[in-house]
Amino acid sequence: MSNSIESIAKAIGARRTGTCETRIDWLLTDSRSLGFPEETLFFALKTKRNDGHKYIPELYERGVRNFVVADLPIDLERYADANFLQVRDPLKALQQLAREHRKQFQVPVIGVTGSNGKTIVKEWIYQLLSPDKVVTRSPRSYNSQIGVPLSVWLMNEQTQVGVFEAGISEMGEMESLRSIILPTIGILTNIGGAHQENFFSLQDKCMEKLSLFKDCDVLIYDADDELISSCVQRSLFSVREIAWSKVDTECPLFIEAIEKGVKHTTVKYRYLNLPSEYAIPFIDDASIENSLHCLAVALYLMIPPSKIAERMSRIEPIAMRLEVKEGKNDCILINDSYNSDLASLDIALDFMQRRSEGEGKKRTLILSDMLETGQSSRMLYRQVAELARNRGVNKLIGVGEEIRSAMNMFNAEKYFFQTTEKLQESTVLQRLRDEIILIKGARSFHFEDISDLLELKVHETILEVNLSALVDNLNYYRNKLKPGTKMVCMVKASAYGAGSYEVAKTLQDHRVDYLAVAVADEGSALRKAGITASILIMNPEMTAFKTMFDYKLEPEIYSFYILNALIRAAEKEGVTNFPIHIKINTGMNRLGFEPTEMPQLIERLKRQAAVIPRSVFSHLAGSDSAQFDSFTVRQISLFEQVSEELQAAFSHKILRHILNTAGIERYGHAQFDMVRLGLGLYGVDPFTNNMLRNVSTLKTTILQIRRVKKEDTVGYSRKGRLERDSRIAAIPIGYADGLDRHLGNGNAYCLVNGKKAPYVGNICMDVAMIDVTDIDCKEGDSVIIFGDDLPVTALSATLGTIPYEVLTSVSDRVKRVYYQD
Ligand SMILES: *Cc1c(COP(=O)(O)O)cnc(C)c1O
Repeated sequence: MSNSIESIAKAIGARRTGTCETRIDWLLTDSRSLGFPEETLFFALKTKRNDGHKYIPELYERGVRNFVVADLPIDLERYADANFLQVRDPLKALQQLAREHRKQFQVPVIGVTGSNGKTIVKEWIYQLLSPDKVVTRSPRSYNSQIGVPLSVWLMNEQTQVGVFEAGISEMGEMESLRSIILPTIGILTNIGGAHQENFFSLQDKCMEKLSLFKDCDVLIYDADDELISSCVQRSLFSVREIAWSKVDTECPLFIEAIEKGVKHTTVKYRYLNLPSEYAIPFIDDASIENSLHCLAVALYLMIPPSKIAERMSRIEPIAMRLEVKEGKNDCILINDSYNSDLASLDIALDFMQRRSEGEGKKRTLILSDMLETGQSSRMLYRQVAELARNRGVNKLIGVGEEIRSAMNMFNAEKYFFQTTEKLQESTVLQRLRDEIILIKGARSFHFEDISDLLELKVHETILEVNLSALVDNLNYYRNKLKPGTKMVCMVKASAYGAGSYEVAKTLQDHRVDYLAVAVADEGSALRKAGITASILIMNPEMTAFKTMFDYKLEPEIYSFYILNALIRAAEKEGVTNFPIHIKINTGMNRLGFEPTEMPQLIERLKRQAAVIPRSVFSHLAGSDSAQFDSFTVRQISLFEQVSEELQAAFSHKILRHILNTAGIERYGHAQFDMVRLGLGLYGVDPFTNNMLRNVSTLKTTILQIRRVKKEDTVGYSRKGRLERDSRIAAIPIGYADGLDRHLGNGNAYCLVNGKKAPYVGNICMDVAMIDVTDIDCKEGDSVIIFGDDLPVTALSATLGTIPYEVLTSVSDRVKRVYYQD
């Protein structure tokens, strides 16, 4: 396929408007990720929440000339030199295009699905096969109905093996992914309970996943997993199997022994009856299981066992994260230790560009040679240079022979070094000031040394915030909304402790309608940092009205006293039609106008022009508890009545809202025009106290370990008594960091290397002691206070409080570190 616009139009069955000829190299679905305007084809996708057609004028302005649309723009004559490919459904067209693209390649294509480990298996396959084979793989975890076609599109003439992930969230989605990937080799990693909401049963889920492999030549799976084995037997298609087993010697791949050492695991196996072995630098069960899937692929592709063993010994953990850290000299560091290839560079640059909006900081890229891309280096660095220019990189620091020899292609401020050591010896790093720095290097350049050098080191206790999980939670609740229902996201109290700016920025990028904070200062801080979304102030102080006018922060108004004061202040400043949000008391008895005050309120609002009601709302007192259901229903109906009364008095639309997180979950019929999402966004379901995707992880490190004799004690007041000779570790977190003192004396535990370590004795102001007698650990090891495997709700239950309190208690001196997975 030539990738000409004409051939693409044909492939997707589009009606073409426009005559300009271009070659398309890049497909785009998210207007914010534009890299190469001229060679880009934009798909205007319609989702429940958004419509890509909105972004056409902006993209055209930025140089895009090729669009796949459902509807032609009304002002078509404005786009004289553009091509519009009109189709019924642009998403289907994107998938169709990927399907046609895929058909041109006769190489082995590996499809990976399952509940966990997809991305790691995909990356390890890449590590095992490179550099003998040029492998094209999904960037990060692009595994959705949109991500899969974008991934498959990356296959080109050089590709010798494709590896693509497929992820589904609903039944019936796999078929479209199958027809795009057309895997010849299938891997089912495992089936767990994750994302199960829409699935009838685990078995259905397993059968759905297996349907990806309908026309595969070979299927790889864990034969010891009864569920998976029985589903494979039941499924109608018959493919060759490389089932691996630790018990069944009849299986093609029999695992004879798994021997765990301190840091390595040795796996002994027989493949088609020939014995062999390998070792990996991991000891956890998940990594071992992942390595077995990869082993099966490598054997099937006839990689010699000696080579497999050599590469297995060097496989590396997958850091799929873009980590944002505070750097020295007011710099912000974005660490991307992910493999250096063009697609991942594009994603990282895109992230840097978005992150720098409104910051006024220079954009700096530290980039190593890109290894094993299978592309000629001239072509490659020309593209890198173009990407850097399009993404507004101001300064480039290149490390390695190849990038150095391509230096003329870059026209930003630039520095080149042969090796990472030479860069460290220079003064270039010391001179970085007030910049956003993207650090991206192939492994062999060990760029972690550079980020170590640039990182601002303060306290060793950090709160890690997973912004991707936040977005997943947002979408989880969005999916519960009727089309058109707006959303307020609560970012009060530093976004429930997660840090308001990064969270607000992420939410703004995902186009939530309103952000809400408690006080005006929180709002003005967001504005100064560049947040442009609408902001609601829940507890407006009378002394801060001017700040609200200056920064367009919209206050909640709950009494005549504050309403009158606001109107006076607005009139004095010459402000008119300032949006306000009317709070009604329907039973919470905290803040709000009484229902009986409505006529008087309407009267007051009508007699002035300084402020205008933008919304009217109330708050539920017991939406997270079934015992209050009848009370909640009364609150909702009272609100309905009173808000109607207010609306009837005005001709403009006044948004109505009453639901918080638990309300969204439980009272879907009462969405009115908008809902207010709080705790759920941060990963806790307030009704069940179950976790959605965990967002915040509070972690620290072991400062010191000592042996303490049974008869001795630990900590203040000699409270920490021991039942045996023990190993006690000290960790740099105390009640001043938000570690509640009531957790001490064995009332709770933290996690060290995955194992429970109880708190011993009283928790101090800055330090706590934990018992690590039975845990293999050393000084410097990391300690989880709460996070994925130790939910914050476990701590709040121990403390007899609610997760809200534990999350918001993490004090300011604990550094927040943000990442995306
Ligand atoms: C905090 C708050 C919310 C959000 O509550 P969650 O239980 O966290 O969802 C909603 N509305 C108001 C008025 C709030 O103060």
